[in-house]
Formats: sequence, structure tokens, C-alpha cells
Amino acid sequence: MTRRDIAVVGGGLSGYATAIGLALEGFDTLLVAPQAERTDGRSTALIGESIAFLARLGLAEAIEAKGERLATMRIVDDTGRLLRAPTTEFKAAEVGLFAFGINILNADLLTLLKERAGTLSDRLTIETEPVRDISADADGASVTLADGRAFRVDLIVGADGRNSIVRRYSGIALRDWTYPQSAIVLNFSHAQPHDRISTEFHTPNGPFTQVPLPGRNSSLVWVDTPDAAANAKDLRTEKLAERIERRMHSILGAVEVTSEVQSFPLSGASAARMAGERTALVGEAAHVFPPIGAQGLNLGLRDAAALVSAVSASRDDPGSKRALGAYERARRVDVVSRTVGVDLLNRSLLAGFLPAQAGRAAGLAALSGLPFLRRFAIREGLSPGSGFRGLSKGLNERLGTGRLATVDDPLS
Ligand SMILES: Cc1cc2nc3c(=O)[nH]c(=O)nc-3n(C[C@H](O)[C@H](O)[C@H](O)COP(=O)(O)OP(=O)(O)OC[C@H]3O[C@@H](n4cnc5c(N)ncnc54)[C@H](O)[C@@H]3O)c2cc1C
Repeated sequence: MTRRDIAVVGGGLSGYATAIGLALEGFDTLLVAPQAERTDGRSTALIGESIAFLARLGLAEAIEAKGERLATMRIVDDTGRLLRAPTTEFKAAEVGLFAFGINILNADLLTLLKERAGTLSDRLTIETEPVRDISADADGASVTLADGRAFRVDLIVGADGRNSIVRRYSGIALRDWTYPQSAIVLNFSHAQPHDRISTEFHTPNGPFTQVPLPGRNSSLVWVDTPDAAANAKDLRTEKLAERIERRMHSILGAVEVTSEVQSFPLSGASAARMAGERTALVGEAAHVFPPIGAQGLNLGLRDAAALVSAVSASRDDPGSKRALGAYERARRVDVVSRTVGVDLLNRSLLAGFLPAQAGRAAGLAALSGLPFLRRFAIREGLSPGSGFRGLSKGLNERLGTGRLATVDDPLS
């Protein structure tokens, strides 16, 4: 049986990022990455620690070149309800930053990660056959591929998505749920510049969110009923463009759809633990979020960063109880608090119940009017825990490269 230090199962964004991080720490790493069935049309608004981690992988410049910075986040209450919140804007400059983060197409980010992985071939082997079987005991673990080849390792990382085989073989329970919504995802160009502003329209069926891409382009995540999503997918692109422009109250002028239209049924899931015997879970293998508040992949990348750090502190045995206990402790609070927060936000949007509407409207009104609360919310959104610590100096330091400069020192 071929020997490696660590096997990472899953060649999505979380899996590639984890495998590269482990290889850079000197672990002899196997990445099992079967070819994806379809190109991922989504984009990710990378924030705070995700960018810091990707910068440590050597991708800071490449991400900046491919993505677009987010300078302002605007929330518009478009529910048409009795109790509506005022339009709220969060500017990165309020906490001394030039940008909150960078929005990049998932397909571009995956290409960058694959290219980086290719430069580490002495420590990182990539196999494209899926995993058929895994086993683990106190002394080590084994991964068997569909073609029968087997690898002996100290640790197996499950980065294999929501139906994770690693999670199942580890006996880690999963709580999962669905929402009565689907997300329509596409990219579009527009007549007016976006000025690095992302606008989220809160509608009774969910958020309709435009996020800037380079040039006069943006990505769209449009959460609506499954029927509305199916209708949108069936529309001719000109009709769809008209509908998008109308939904956005023409703030970016005329719109042209520039990508395939994809739809994703909304669901959530949360694994009972982040680690089992000689196994650890990262990304959607451990937690699935509805696309609200740009949390999913950012949490997956924070998982990857925490796992690399935990196993690097136990080099003699990266699959030891000590390493995996440290990983579990590092991730639990962040994952649970974000799962609850995103779920509550989505349910408050769907609620026809007046007190829930009042609560949401009052919360946004408070954020709109109270500078201290606004700064706290921005810091917490960017980096969990940092709202309590103060951030204006700290974030740039944690970003490691200083590439997201402060307002006094803009990059452009
Ligand atoms: C509409 C939408 C918009 C979103 N927008 C954002 C956003 O703005 N910001 C954000 O942070 N997050 C966002 N997310 C969430 C984010 O896209 C996901 O969290 C992320 O893509 C999950 O990546 P992953 O690598 O964990 O899982 P996946 O991408 O599912 O990768 C899992 C991989 O494992 C592989 N695999 C499965 N089984 C096996 C096996 N047996 N052997 C080997 N390999 C296997 C699969 O082939 C796949 O490549 C969004 C989600 C949705 C639905």
C-alpha cells in the first residue's frame, strides 16, 4: 500500500486550498480530485481570514488581478411590507479599510488553485479516481480509490462536499434541512459602473444580491421561490435581463446576461463534529449554508486554515487526537454561530409575522443610525471575534500581505 502523510478527499475549492496549505507545511499530501460534472457558475465574496489564508498559499496577487474589490455593501428593504428598514450602507472606509474583500468567480479561483497545486508536485500528488472506501483505526487510516489502489495515511481530510463519504465512514451525524427557496446564479454586464458597491435587495422571498466583478460586470445571486427560479431559467435572455434591471430599480442601467443561468435549491446542514478518528471535515462536508451573507466558502477556507495550523503543531502524528481536538476547538464556535445567524436572517426575511418584520427592521435601523454598532457589525462580518477586539489596524496585519490597504494608502 502506498504511503502518504495526509489524504484530502475532494477537489472543490476547500479541498484544493487545504491540500496546498498542507503541502506548503511539508506534509506529503494526496489530493483525490475527480473531474467536476459541471463548471461552477457562482462567485465568492472572499473576506478577512479567507484572503489571509489564500495569501499565505501565494495567491494574493492572482486573486486581486482576477477579482473585484468590495468597497461598500448596501442593503435595500424591498419587501414592500408595512414595517420596512431604512436603506443601510456599510463602507469599508468606516473601519479604515479600502475594501471589505474581493469577489471572484469560483471557476477562476479553482483554476488559480489548480495552477498553484501544480507547482508543488514534489509534495502534492493528485489522483482523479473517486474514493470508494476509507477505514481508520488508532494507528492510521486507509483510502481506497474506485480503481482499487489504496493509500495508507495518518489523516484523512473530508473536503468531499455535502454527501461526504468521509463523514459517513467516520460515523459523524449530520443535521440537515431545506428552505422553500432556490437561488438563481448568473453574471451580467451593465451600462453604469458599480463603483465597487454590492447591493442586496431584501425581498419577501429572499435576498436579490448584486456583487461587483471587474469592469462593468457583476454576479447575481437571486433567491426566490423554486417556481420563480424555474421560470427565470426558462426565460429568453433579453426578457431575463429586463426582469433583472427592473428588480434592481435600474440602479446600474441596462443589463445583459453574460453567463449560463444556474439554479441551486436552498438547504442547510451541520455536522455534529468537525473530526472523527483520524478524519477531519472541511467545507460543505461539515456545514452547508444558504447563499445569504457570503458565508459558505469563507467558513470552508477558515476550516482549511485552522486545520493546517492544528496539524502543523503535531507534526509527528497529524491525525492524533491532540491535533484533531485542537481543530475541533478552533472551529466549533465560528461554525455554529454562523449557521444560526444565517438561518435566522433568512427566516426573518421569509416571515410574514409582524413582530419578526419589526425585529429585522429595527435591527437594520439601529445599524443604519448607530456608528459604533455599524463598526462592530462590519468587524464581526469580516472576521469572527474581531468585532470585540477592534480591527482597523489588525485586519491588514492579519491579511499578511497588506494588499487590502487602508484608506490612507489605497492600492489603486
Ligand atoms: C448560490 C450559492 C452562492 C454562494 N455564494 C457564496 C459566497 O458568495 N461566498 C461564500 O463564502 N460562499 C458562497 N456559497 C457557498 C460555497 O459556494 C460553497 O461553500 C463551496 O463551493 C463549497 O466548496 P467545497 O469545496 O466545500 O465543496 P464542493 O464544491 O461540493 O466540493 C466537493 C468535492 O468533493 C468531490 N467528491 C465528492 N465525493 C467524492 C469522493 N467519493 N471521492 C473524491 N471526491 C469526491 C466532488 O467531486 C467535489 O469536487 C454559495 C453557495 C450557493 C449555493
